[in-house]
Amino acid sequence: MQNTEEIWRLVDAKREEFIALSDRVWGMPELAYLEAKSCAEHTEMLRAQGFRVTEKLADIPTAVMGEAGEGGPVIAILGEYDALPGLSQEAGIAEPRPLPGDGSGHGCGHNLLGSASLLAATAVKDYLAANGLPGRVRYYGCPAEEGGAAKGFMVRDGAFDDVDIAISWHPAAFAAVQEAVSLANTRIDFSFVGRASHAAAAPHLGRSALDAVELMNVGVNYMREHMPSDARIHYAYLDAGGVAPNVVQPTAKVRYLIRARDLVELKRLIARVRKIADGAALMTETTVDAKVVSGVSNLLGNLPLERAMQANLDRLGPPPFDDLDRARAAEFQATLSEEDIASSWRRIGLPERRGVTLCDVVPALETKGAPMVGSTDVGDVSWVVPTVQARGATYAIGTPGHSWQLTGQGKLPAAHKGMVHVAKVMAGTAVDCLRDPALIEAAKADLAERTAADPYEPVLSKDVQPPFGMSKAAG
Ligand SMILES: [Zn+2]
Repeated sequence: MQNTEEIWRLVDAKREEFIALSDRVWGMPELAYLEAKSCAEHTEMLRAQGFRVTEKLADIPTAVMGEAGEGGPVIAILGEYDALPGLSQEAGIAEPRPLPGDGSGHGCGHNLLGSASLLAATAVKDYLAANGLPGRVRYYGCPAEEGGAAKGFMVRDGAFDDVDIAISWHPAAFAAVQEAVSLANTRIDFSFVGRASHAAAAPHLGRSALDAVELMNVGVNYMREHMPSDARIHYAYLDAGGVAPNVVQPTAKVRYLIRARDLVELKRLIARVRKIADGAALMTETTVDAKVVSGVSNLLGNLPLERAMQANLDRLGPPPFDDLDRARAAEFQATLSEEDIASSWRRIGLPERRGVTLCDVVPALETKGAPMVGSTDVGDVSWVVPTVQARGATYAIGTPGHSWQLTGQGKLPAAHKGMVHVAKVMAGTAVDCLRDPALIEAAKADLAERTAADPYEPVLSKDVQPPFGMSKAAG
């Protein structure tokens, strides 16, 4: 039953405005830290709904926060609105058909992510007002989830210092409580400087920075054999030293993305990669400078909050998809491989049921899937505030993350239904916290226990600035 509870009715009362917001943001895909229009849409909605608005949160131009209510505990609901390069796709079309423009698209569903979170926050605000309850609800519009680690900078700036509970979600194939498994990561740029020279006439006078990068990569690739099996390392050349092979390359730059199970493991791995970079510089008589660009912590779970969220999901049931939704989803599923579909079921931890195109169950909390091996900047929030996340069922089972198929489904009625459904899950969980101080205490005790042995030590040091230019460089 979707509307037996007051908080769910409050979500439904405003669903159309927020579906329209999600569709507008879908239509203006903006890359990490360039989300000026999307952020303005969210800011305008916050004002229209009567939130007290703080713009440029943590000195980030495209971050915004809105607060409503008085006294009591502070519940934060986190949203995002950044898009991805190269994933432009016409809405509702199940074959690759990019739209005219710069090629960006909402291939991770963050148009829905931001809108559902803001809808949930609005419903909680309306609930507090209708019931005369003390308590504050905040919506955090967080930019640059895709590689920009904005939430880490917001945490560092103290944006969550007085928050009691944080709630978020991510678009997915199934409606469920998100298992708190994600990798800590960091991006580090290694810049080598050597000496230019004529590569044929005076090779002995040159010192190649490009050689240094290549040797560093060889060294790291040998290290792979000797690192934890769940760690990941990838790299990309940012500067190969020029286009002339007859000039010894005086500069070269490589970006490393290093991921590990947790912060302790990540720091060990960073130290080893740095040693290899130093070794490459030594071998080539170049110098190397390492600059941390971004970093996120692994996610910490929170059992009391996960149980509370699961109870909301169990009462709600799966999203109310109909035959038309399933038929549209089938069109997209037809573009996927059997392996895509099988791995979607594996990820959620349920036996595969062929022919099922959209989520029709609520998995139990104990259901353990194949762990997600990506990273999210919600991780940093989860180290300082008890945090829980939902998966919202917004697309066909099997749709890979970061795909044109995901962009293409972002405005379908099924996406809208999944978005409203997950807003109910989050708003219901927030109301449980506001109604039950013991739940907040239990959530805080759970976090204290998880961080007792290894307290939060973020990857981002004080001198690292948000990589505002990252999308310009990438685009
Ligand atoms: Zn995402």
